[in-house]
Amino acid sequence: MAQQHNPLTSFYRAPKLYAKLPSLGQYYSADIVEMPENGELPIFAMTAKDELLMKNPDALLNGEAVVQVIKSCVPNVKNASKMLSADVDTLLVAIQGATFGDDLEVTGTCDKCSSEARGIASVERALETMQVLEEEYEVAHSGLIILVKPFSYTSTIKAGITNFQSTRSLQALADVPDEMERLSLFNNNFKQIAALNFSLIVDSVSSVSFTDEEGEEQTVTDRNHITEFLDNADSKIGKSIEDKIAELNSIGINHEMKMQCEKCQDDDGEPVVFESRVNFDPVNFFTAS
Ligand SMILES: [Zn+2]
Repeated sequence: MAQQHNPLTSFYRAPKLYAKLPSLGQYYSADIVEMPENGELPIFAMTAKDELLMKNPDALLNGEAVVQVIKSCVPNVKNASKMLSADVDTLLVAIQGATFGDDLEVTGTCDKCSSEARGIASVERALETMQVLEEEYEVAHSGLIILVKPFSYTSTIKAGITNFQSTRSLQALADVPDEMERLSLFNNNFKQIAALNFSLIVDSVSSVSFTDEEGEEQTVTDRNHITEFLDNADSKIGKSIEDKIAELNSIGINHEMKMQCEKCQDDDGEPVVFESRVNFDPVNFFTAS
């Protein structure tokens, strides 16, 4: 039996806007993102099913909701979990713009009275002012050239889950009556966070190169060798890699925004304006609350 043509197809979603990626998508193979020639991805509004998925705490925490919703709203993206975090971040802002319009309600904390202030961010402006990201960056230290890359979305999810669990177990600590047991649980928690940070750094290092005694350039890409090296290297090397990664992770959508506090006034009686870091990522929305 032939499939009957659905007379409703002309009412299906059409792209609402087009967005570039901080990475410009140039390092992705077609099984991750099929990049159009002009580098602009068509963005569709969320369906009712997508919106429901974005309200499911478990699916948000493990990244499944974001991956599914991107697949639905940005058909060119085949596997969002393999993308850079900055690109996923940008797509989420674009999807919110395609679904709810250009004005995005954001919140920030006033430096003066610590109360929560609300502001409006423009999706279009956020996309226009986005910074471009390269695939790899160099850290030079003690004769070594270390190539680092920005966080993948998988790393961000890993960090989100660990932070969430850590917050949970620290909250539970208050109910443990024995002080020694409390201390030991606290230490375990600390170790878990340290292990997470170490694995995130390892994930971000793509190679380590140096010139050997014969003057030949050697490049190490073996994951085990890199892990072992970082485990045994001078803490200054670890620190410069960490600093570089932190710098890279701030590239992409600009999260700094000027906001107004309704409750505070400056000396001239005008509302206090402050600079705040605005979070567009629904995963962090959830883990932060
Ligand atoms: Zn205030």
